[in-house]
Amino acid sequence: MSATRRLILIGGGHAHIEVLRSAAQRRFDGELVLVSPDAQQLYSGMMPAQLRGAVTERALSIDLAALCRAAGAQFVEGTVHRIAVTNIDAHVLADNASIDGNWCSVDIGAVSTGQELPGVHDYAYATRPLGAWHALLERVTDLLTSRSEGAPLSCCVVGGGAAGCELALALLARAHTLNRTLSLTMLSASPRLLPEFSTRMSSRIVARFAARGVRVETSATGTRVTARDVQLSDGRSIASELTLWLTGAAAPPLFLASQCATDAEGFLAVDATLRAVNGDALWGAGDCVSHVASPWVTRSGVYAVRGGAVLAHNLRCVTGNTLGRVRAFTPQRHTMFILDTADGRALLRWRGMLSDSRWALQLKRAIDRRFVARYIGW
Ligand SMILES: Cc1cc2nc3c(=O)[nH]c(=O)nc-3n(C[C@H](O)[C@H](O)[C@H](O)COP(=O)(O)OP(=O)(O)OC[C@H]3O[C@@H](n4cnc5c(N)ncnc54)[C@H](O)[C@@H]3O)c2cc1C
Repeated sequence: MSATRRLILIGGGHAHIEVLRSAAQRRFDGELVLVSPDAQQLYSGMMPAQLRGAVTERALSIDLAALCRAAGAQFVEGTVHRIAVTNIDAHVLADNASIDGNWCSVDIGAVSTGQELPGVHDYAYATRPLGAWHALLERVTDLLTSRSEGAPLSCCVVGGGAAGCELALALLARAHTLNRTLSLTMLSASPRLLPEFSTRMSSRIVARFAARGVRVETSATGTRVTARDVQLSDGRSIASELTLWLTGAAAPPLFLASQCATDAEGFLAVDATLRAVNGDALWGAGDCVSHVASPWVTRSGVYAVRGGAVLAHNLRCVTGNTLGRVRAFTPQRHTMFILDTADGRALLRWRGMLSDSRWALQLKRAIDRRFVARYIGW
């Protein structure tokens, strides 16, 4: 594709779907292109519900191709491997496409730490990209349905953060529904589960796992995965026929490979307007960026969503030659977080308050449904 006045969006994450929604409401000046490896984006907040069989994939699917059509944007299927960007233009190299443009924006999420460890790529399961998630769902169904009742399936979830805990609880619920038993181990490199939350919330989760006979190993680091086990740095191994790898966020390799402005960990460094700090014609939001003006911002969907509204506004200004009107992203310090415990309840954290209740789950379901509904039916 040759250069006209064109904005290239890389990745269909939470912030870019908001950019597309904004363009669907009122077109941007110039051309808009989205490059994404999949035409569907699954809303991660509802993945645990899908894993435990409570909802079908349709409930959490956002059709990126349809959203692009509504936004007047071109959808290009592919993964971007290189960006060459200056302060006046951008060139993007994807699987089967080479795209020239004037501006570029990235919302490609983070990758899990430890991907390079032996066996992780071959034997452990992850939530992204879409193919990996489908492989996980298929494997869970195969293993659970082929297992005779009373013969436990050994399973290890590596990563004791919110995603790891939520998916582990969903897995237990799924096994329970099918009348199968899991021998599940939660492995966390941190001294406690949910290290990013209060000790009260952590204790509630530990109690849930204890009630279900789950072994919790903290301050324990997985170093190798095989088809049968997870090996630890202290020489021990944990039997696991099904390993989920949900460790902390690492930077996607794209930025270092493309010599973009990054922080020390390789995340794209953006200023308060979400533009690359070196002034390149490159913007970004979500888990793949590092906010130099607000370094305390954690990597979570909440900030990706909030950043999306500002990104949409600023990209509209940039493409419409009204750069003077760009806004600063001022992330809020306190965000609500709701963790579905797969037992008809949820843990809700809001500032210093913790609720362990049925209504917290109802609230989560309402928020999740409302979020997905914003991006479908265009
Ligand atoms: C099970 C689970 C539950 C979660 N629940 C919550 C929750 O309740 N609340 C919360 O705040 N956070 C939650 N999170 C965290 C949340 O999912 C992430 O913080 C959020 O997805 C980050 O959004 P993003 O827009 O940065 O990227 P993503 O949502 O990861 O989207 C990035 C997109 O870019 C694509 N992409 C990647 N690389 C490339 C490339 N090179 N070229 C083109 N496209 C690319 C990906 O395929 C993907 O479609 C949860 C995570 C998981 C795994």
